[in-house]
Amino acid sequence: MDPLEGKFPHLPERIIRLGELASNLWWSWHPEARAIFHLLDGNGAEFKIFNPVKMLYELDGSVLDAAAKDTRFLRRYDAVMARFDAEMNAYGSWFYSRIADPGKLQIAYFSAEYGLHHSLPFYAGGLGFLAGDFLKECSDLGVPLVGVGFMYPEGYLHQKLSADGWQMGEREVLDREQAPICHVRDKDGQPLVIKVPIMELPINFEVWKAQVGRVTLYLIDTDIEENDPWNREMSARLYTEDPEQRLVQEILLGIGGTQILNALGIKHSILHLNEGHSAFAILERIREKVEKGMSFRDASEQVKATTVFTTHTPIPAGHDVFPFSLMDKYFSSYIPLLELDRDSFYKLGVDPKDPTAGFNMTAFALRMSAYCNSVSKKHEEVTRKMWQHLWPDPPENKMPIDYITNGVHISTWLDARISALFNKYLGPNWLADHDNSFIWELIDDIPDDELWRTHRLLKMIMMASLQERARLRWLEDHADPNMMMASGVMLNPNALTIGFARRFATYKRAALIFQDAERLKGILTNQKKPVQFIFAGKAHPSDYSGKLLIQQVFNAARDPYFGGRIAFVEDYDEEIAQYLVHGVDLWLNNPLIPFEASGTSGMKAEINGNPQLSVLDGWWLEGFNGKNGWAFDGDGNDNTDCRDAQEIYNIIEKDIVPLYYEKDEAGIPHGWVRVMKESIKSTVPAFSSRRMVKEYVLKFYQGAMKSANGIKQ
Ligand SMILES: *Cc1c(COP(=O)(O)O)cnc(C)c1O
Repeated sequence: MDPLEGKFPHLPERIIRLGELASNLWWSWHPEARAIFHLLDGNGAEFKIFNPVKMLYELDGSVLDAAAKDTRFLRRYDAVMARFDAEMNAYGSWFYSRIADPGKLQIAYFSAEYGLHHSLPFYAGGLGFLAGDFLKECSDLGVPLVGVGFMYPEGYLHQKLSADGWQMGEREVLDREQAPICHVRDKDGQPLVIKVPIMELPINFEVWKAQVGRVTLYLIDTDIEENDPWNREMSARLYTEDPEQRLVQEILLGIGGTQILNALGIKHSILHLNEGHSAFAILERIREKVEKGMSFRDASEQVKATTVFTTHTPIPAGHDVFPFSLMDKYFSSYIPLLELDRDSFYKLGVDPKDPTAGFNMTAFALRMSAYCNSVSKKHEEVTRKMWQHLWPDPPENKMPIDYITNGVHISTWLDARISALFNKYLGPNWLADHDNSFIWELIDDIPDDELWRTHRLLKMIMMASLQERARLRWLEDHADPNMMMASGVMLNPNALTIGFARRFATYKRAALIFQDAERLKGILTNQKKPVQFIFAGKAHPSDYSGKLLIQQVFNAARDPYFGGRIAFVEDYDEEIAQYLVHGVDLWLNNPLIPFEASGTSGMKAEINGNPQLSVLDGWWLEGFNGKNGWAFDGDGNDNTDCRDAQEIYNIIEKDIVPLYYEKDEAGIPHGWVRVMKESIKSTVPAFSSRRMVKEYVLKFYQGAMKSANGIKQ
């Protein structure tokens, strides 16, 4: 049954497929698709949240009727639909031509969060965007994958600051009917309801789907009438602190998520866990085999041989550990179904360093997956140190862990105006072949002044968007005038502009540059060569020290001492991220070593020609080549904050500012543009999700596929 049936009744026949196009996030990485919606909307949408489903609902029938007769519109509509159809067909894809018939195999990808677009608030930060970019790239490459995750109708958190800079959570519930998702229905046309029976009070959930090009993402929604109020809330928000609620969420994701695939008849032969939150999916796969008569041992070997596990963080709090007493409450009737006793079951999740702490999801996933990876070369070393003791026997390298460095989805994060330059100078195949480094040698053919003018334009657009946000906040909330001063309205398009935006987790050290206020002030308020900073980011609602950091940055932003050269932008989301990574001159990254497993926001800036200044951690150890930005070597010792801040001031003063302001008579900073070009050239091919997904396929999925083929289904 067509899930869109009846959703857009007022669409004229000639353009009826606009409904299908609006409901497929394919538009989020195809500017020509977004452009036809903007045409309908009279191009008035520059600063509005872009959501074509909502737009189609709200547009007047007469506008749609007129479009259906407008030959200029129809030409573009037909061209976009033809491209859409060509890209939806997996038989022209890389996967089909190089690996296998995508019709014969299915990979199930589980993640607790997905960052796809700001109209779908199902993410908290980098992990989510990694998963979102992964799905988009699998669509582009034709990798036969389905995603499973949560629909968090209240998302992570909408951030508003009080007049004194304290982060307040705002609840805002997603309007499911007007989001680019649709209900999954059963064969009678009713919403599909799945019951997770292992709870004493069974939880029911409905299933939604988001279409991400060729890839379908299934989303769990517990907010339905059959559930009691506590359970209805279960999928409301991301990353709750309450351990019991968190355990239930992870049961829903792993076990409930597997049941979605079964209910829909999707037989997956490979399981990929994006972080440990979803590791119970392994159990459910084993249980199914045991139910059919296999021994636990054989079943777990088969499941292991076809499971991929990606670990994402060296931060201990990022690894869930559930007390055994809590596990008993939910698993006591499940364990016998695995034909295991309590002790042997819990052994699978014990961390020998802390055996009484409980069931450790990472230890469990590492033991039960044949293919494990970390997300950068450095992170592999760190992960080995963290988990080597699970494999106590020499030789040392028996631990089955590899690394696949993260990458970002180029069509999502590259600005369309920069792509237009590539179209002009790199030949017609640059996008299709963007992970091939040869193409990027041609970047030097782009005239410096053209790249610089494009960058200047993007910087202006970013500043205009921040000012427009501030104006709306002023208009709607009568916000405090001090707050307005802090929000970016005083930014100067001619000043060297540095961006810092990410979650305000303490290890990321958002307030590091305020270590030496006087020295900072000197840099910012230099008459001839001013520097300014734009900050954005949310703290986890229960992270008190993260909120203090926000307050510290906000107070600096509204303090006349820094001369209006610091801005804090509220409610960091995918949309602000886009403006910032396109529009700032320089990206700053200064986490405490070694806690940044990879980091991706710097990649997003670099591909747009905006170099980063970063501590040598995560991906920058592989990415930095001496020409494509700046690096310093944080030492990880006690007074490292002070030392690292001085390093940053030194590099900004001695290297960055002079290079940025050294311009020819026409105002072009050729030396700076050289660094911009190096950023693009070195980052696009090597740190794209294209390179990353191909690595997952070649290193892991191919081997897992062989094992799967050896197993009688
Ligand atoms: C890319 C991205 C992140 C991740 O940033 P890191 O610097 O890697 O932590 C977080 N939030 C948003 C909105 C992003 O786009």
